[in-house]
Amino acid sequence: MSIGLPKVDTEGLKSFIPETEIFEWLEKTKNPAPERVRKIIQRSLDKNRLDPEEMATLINAEDPELVEEIFEGARTLKERIYGNRIVLFAPLYIGNDCVNNCKYCGFRANNREVHRKTLTMPELDNEIEALVNKGHKRLILVYGEHPQYDAQFIHDTVKEVYAQKHGNGEIRRVNINAAPMDVEGFKLIKEAGIGTYQIFQETYHEATYRDQHPSGPKSNFLWRLHGLDRAQEAGIDDVGIGALMGLFDWRFETMALLYHTIHLEERFKVGPHTISFPRIEPAIGTDTAKFPGVNDYDFKRLVAILRLAVPYTGLILTCRESVELRNDIIKFGVSQIDAGSDIGVGAYSTRDEESYKKSQFVLNDGRSLDQVIRELCEAGFIPSFCTGCYRLGRTGEHFMEFAVPGFVKRFCTPNAILTFLEYIEDYASPETAAAGLVQIERELEAMPESDQKAKLIERIEQVKNGDRDLYF
Ligand code: SAM
Ligand code: SF4
Repeated sequence: MSIGLPKVDTEGLKSFIPETEIFEWLEKTKNPAPERVRKIIQRSLDKNRLDPEEMATLINAEDPELVEEIFEGARTLKERIYGNRIVLFAPLYIGNDCVNNCKYCGFRANNREVHRKTLTMPELDNEIEALVNKGHKRLILVYGEHPQYDAQFIHDTVKEVYAQKHGNGEIRRVNINAAPMDVEGFKLIKEAGIGTYQIFQETYHEATYRDQHPSGPKSNFLWRLHGLDRAQEAGIDDVGIGALMGLFDWRFETMALLYHTIHLEERFKVGPHTISFPRIEPAIGTDTAKFPGVNDYDFKRLVAILRLAVPYTGLILTCRESVELRNDIIKFGVSQIDAGSDIGVGAYSTRDEESYKKSQFVLNDGRSLDQVIRELCEAGFIPSFCTGCYRLGRTGEHFMEFAVPGFVKRFCTPNAILTFLEYIEDYASPETAAAGLVQIERELEAMPESDQKAKLIERIEQVKNGDRDLYF
């Protein structure tokens, strides 16, 4: 059994990010003809994953009218394939000790200003109780990279989360954002029943990567780049990729995310379950102003382009972004957002004035889960806490939503309604409950009469009568 951090071993590994080719595509596709851009958008709407040349063309479409057409294409794709459902989750920071020195991160080893903290099991239980009592069902556990956060520890914390039950609620899906393991380590973590394993490459530009990660196991570019390959080899087939936008040119990073996608498709016959695009935020004891950054407009462009380029994958947008920007970008095809997040270690159950000193960076969306849900309903979205696919072994659900005609109507929307109704019954404020019931009514009205609808209405009554955790 593996104890402590795995041995970094990159023998025989090569990069699958062809830097020169990426720069060449970005150069060759400059000033694209509008017709070409429209053809590419159409190819995406016809449910094709785009090629690097096509993505580069979209990136080079800078005329504001063409950019508007790209935004519109992404909105249409989202509506056609995924409908108006938004899955909600919360991050839970387990510990902020770290042996790395990522220059952008408040948790880096040489940062003396951050307060170090690792949750004990009783403290973890308190955090879970606080989250469950707010109505959360899906979490992502986040860890620094440190020998104490080895595969066994991650496994044990996941088990602990699943073991908690409070009132009518419990956490039903635990995803992980932690350092890359070796295959043995990933196997152990899989045994705990995790959902997605997420690793962000931060920057796919190797020289920038080396500069940003001067020491610790994370300084090895290839070990991290191949991390999700090892997860797949260990049988974890829901993996999440991402880049920390703002370290290097967003155009390059967006292209590289596509190359990573293609690599996973080619090697494992399945692309990433999710793509994340966190942007650098201010962090305690950290000079984040020195990074190139990405402005809001380009950030919107990159999300829309990713939506079009990889139409089968879930896109995640976090509370790093402001409320206004989140409301805008949700329409472009984001399928999951966090809500009511607190990233101070231990802060869900013991928030105090010092909590920010235990945080990795600063969040820009401080709304409560209840408020986010109300506003989603008012904007015509249906919030979802569904974990049905994962529980029934239907891994790769985004792919099914995308590839199986009628999948969203048969499974996703009914499960969104049932899980959202649980939230309304057990946790919602009166205003949110009222907005939520109106939204559920709208969803039901939009559904044609069918056996499926009759079954759903039956289950709605069951939830109202106290049954929980019903799904199709
Ligand atoms: N320690 C593990 C690692 O680095 O992979 C796992 C979690 S790390 C705490 C989660 C992610 O936070 C990192 O992958 C990075 O993309 C992001 N991050 C770090 N510093 C940030 C900052 N200043 N602003 C926004 N995101 C940041
Ligand atoms: Fe540690 Fe992760 Fe922060 Fe890097 S990003 S310093 S590995 S917690």
